[in-house]
Amino acid sequence: MRRETRDPSTPALEASGVKKHYRGAANALFRSGPIVKAVDGVDLVLPRGATVGLVGESGCGKSTLARVLIRLEEPTAGSIALGGDDFLALRGDRLRRARRRIQMIFQDPYSSLNPRLTVGSTIGEGIRIHRLARGAAVGERVAMLLERVGLPPSAASKYPHEFSGGQRQRIGIARALAVEPEVIIADEPVSALDVSIRAQIINLLEDLQSDFALTYLFIAHDLGIVDHVSDTVAVMYCGKIVELSPAEDIFREPLHPYTAGLIASAPVADPSGRGGRAAIPGDVPSPANVPSGCAFHPRCPRVMEVCRTAPPELVRHGERRQVRCWLYPAAP
Ligand code: SF4
Repeated sequence: MRRETRDPSTPALEASGVKKHYRGAANALFRSGPIVKAVDGVDLVLPRGATVGLVGESGCGKSTLARVLIRLEEPTAGSIALGGDDFLALRGDRLRRARRRIQMIFQDPYSSLNPRLTVGSTIGEGIRIHRLARGAAVGERVAMLLERVGLPPSAASKYPHEFSGGQRQRIGIARALAVEPEVIIADEPVSALDVSIRAQIINLLEDLQSDFALTYLFIAHDLGIVDHVSDTVAVMYCGKIVELSPAEDIFREPLHPYTAGLIASAPVADPSGRGGRAAIPGDVPSPANVPSGCAFHPRCPRVMEVCRTAPPELVRHGERRQVRCWLYPAAP
């Protein structure tokens, strides 16, 4: 595949102060609808060639953040730099060209493929749109991509319903790869798959990363999956990053009580992949009604008086870690 040469020290993607607020439906309390803070001031850096894991329970804002980073939705505030370029400033043809550089792999391989298009058409669409090949060369590239993700070239003439879930996810990966991206956002790419298939897809993603120098944002709702793949882990709660740490540190010594709760409730190593040891009590609050102070305080086993009223900032903890919790005051 063709690769563009860029300064390796420039992050592949850098989000600063990104917010996605919108107005929810009117109700008895809010005649004009409450402000829903799905993403509320996220700073995130994806170093080139690295994998950043983004974890949190369903409803924490992970998927909304992903859609904003890829510009499927426009942010309410903040900036996004794609390889150092101001991604949000791009319009028209320049935006179309830039979109090639950041691709998404979706959670549900069943609904993310058009059932009326052959696999060859699905994968070839991006190649044609971005003029990466013409005529017979498109088919040759499709065949090469199918082989690279572990499917026979003959798959090009078939339809999505003729494949298993794992095979459909391989097709989704080939579609993302087809336009030679630099960044791939994988939104729960193995959650909908049988446990027996998950390792194969994760191994494939890791192989592709080293072959094509890809940068990944790997989104998952439990820490067990990101454990295998991530260099850095960002933990998200109520639209904010609450902990950002190298993967080896976060599993050895979680700082934020929410991170500790996620690790404690991660599925145990049973074949069903379902069991959890100790679920975090309570539910994720609605983003339309985020608790005062620290948003995690109603569920936190270490809550203090200050937590109920004053929101903690994300502060540095040592050289390589950041945490948003009153247990870790900012260094003077
Ligand atoms: Fe728990 Fe307080 Fe830390 Fe929030 S700020 S996680 S409530 S200790």
